[in-house]
Amino acid sequence: MRDAPVAEVEEAIAAGGLSHIKAPRIGAILRALSAAGGAPDLGLLDALRDGDALAYLQSLPGVGPKTAACVLLFSLGRPAMPVDTHVHRVSGRLGLIEARLSAVAAHGVLTALAGPAASDIYAAHVDLVRHGRRVCHARRPACGTCPLNDLCPSAGSFS
Ligand code: SF4
Repeated sequence: MRDAPVAEVEEAIAAGGLSHIKAPRIGAILRALSAAGGAPDLGLLDALRDGDALAYLQSLPGVGPKTAACVLLFSLGRPAMPVDTHVHRVSGRLGLIEARLSAVAAHGVLTALAGPAASDIYAAHVDLVRHGRRVCHARRPACGTCPLNDLCPSAGSFS
């Protein structure tokens, strides 16, 4: 993919959407990760602290805090909470973060709250996403059947 024409990469990833944006970024990222020669490699992250590794990943084209945290947590087993729309919404409703805290700012807060073990952050991430998909929906959260109803400061605020 690094050396392929952008049009070919775009066609190959079309099913995922936004391929015209992603294709050139993928090539640029892979070239940056193979600047020392050879195949693309994330080995340089091994020598970096978690915060520096996050900063390095976010310096790559098109990589934001969520993607950087996904790479650290899911690929490298390091403590970083990816905050997607479900994690952000459910955390805010449950009072785990301040309601107006941005998703970007929530990364550090939720990493500290769920950590320090990467395994705990991983579990918290999966649970928050699952709860957001199955119960705490964006428009009509099912507060009446939610097992967290007694603990949630937002319970019943949506009727
Ligand atoms: Fe979401 Fe309602 Fe459950 Fe609170 S009680 S977590 S707002 S579904």
